[in-house]
Amino acid sequence: MTPSRSDQNADIAPLIEGIRRWVEIESPTNDRQAVNRMIDRVAADLDGLSVEIERIAGRDGFADILVARTPDARHGADILVLSHVDTVHPIGTLAGALAWRQQGDRLYGPGIYDMKGGAYLAMHAFSQVVRTQSFRLPIVFVFTPDEEVGSPTSRALIEAQARQARYVLVTEPAREGGRIVTARKGVGRFEVSATGVPAHAGSAHRLGHSAINEMARQILTIEGLVDYERGITTTVGMICGGTAVNVIPQHCRISVDLRVCDAVTGNELEERIRGLQPVDRRVSLCVTGGMNRPPFEKTPAIEQLLRHAQVLARDIGFDLADTAMVGGGSDGNFTAALGVPTLDGLGIDGDGAHTESEHALISSILPRARLMQRLLETLE
Ligand SMILES: [Zn+2]
Repeated sequence: MTPSRSDQNADIAPLIEGIRRWVEIESPTNDRQAVNRMIDRVAADLDGLSVEIERIAGRDGFADILVARTPDARHGADILVLSHVDTVHPIGTLAGALAWRQQGDRLYGPGIYDMKGGAYLAMHAFSQVVRTQSFRLPIVFVFTPDEEVGSPTSRALIEAQARQARYVLVTEPAREGGRIVTARKGVGRFEVSATGVPAHAGSAHRLGHSAINEMARQILTIEGLVDYERGITTTVGMICGGTAVNVIPQHCRISVDLRVCDAVTGNELEERIRGLQPVDRRVSLCVTGGMNRPPFEKTPAIEQLLRHAQVLARDIGFDLADTAMVGGGSDGNFTAALGVPTLDGLGIDGDGAHTESEHALISSILPRARLMQRLLETLE
């Protein structure tokens, strides 16, 4: 029987209200106290549920990690659900450009699409299956505070949990029209610094060896590695150098972003970038960094998990497709690289991640909450 429109409205109102409560706690990654307020909120929402809650104190300036386990989940194979509660939006975004508002099917708010909407839906589904005891496999749900900066303090825990898991479900936002994610590029990050010989730009020009001049040539080499056919991109996204217009600069520093489709290419590009040699021998180069998130490649096991989700979605009443490999990384990269079948992009549909037009689609709330619930109920 198809639920009537008023039934659907009754179901959806508390979910919108719950998402609103989460979105209205602004939680930029680098504000430990703010993200901890969000972790407090998640803990309060899980209160009274028969799950074991573990709160791991934050370190290195980041907030705490919250782990919720069904009572049988201490050992052995289980389902790992991953949600991050940090966002890229600074405090004040909610009072400014991205105030909470509803326009037609759209809900606006900082982090609503990436990924508080999806995290809330998943928590709601988790609570439902715990209350009704309708899950088959033990479930571990991890809420992390630092995904938007590469998960420096949660990666080890995510990987340790994933090693014990049979499946991983990640609640990052859905893509174009509700597609889920079954493959992501790997991400590398590098810092390159050049140290040259400073000199007066007028009276001693011949004596100087410019770090900026050297870096300009290195940038062309690095960006020359781009190969769209092979899915390789390199971007020098930041540059800093020099001290004054009339000084041949001693220092220059750049930050490099690398994206690759597979691990072999990742190693190859890492070697090439780390092996950069100065053109001007009087300038020294220092390269640090490497692959941060390994590529998330679609394996036959992931394909099988996708097909299972597609059958569930069809029963709920929608078609579920996956995207081609996406360029953005997530915590799913860590788990998929360990060989654990991972479905990502299971969160809310919408658009405008990381921008002032970030929004979620109300029409995606019930079907996607239901899909998460059915996954937790049927995976075995
Ligand atoms: Zn995200």
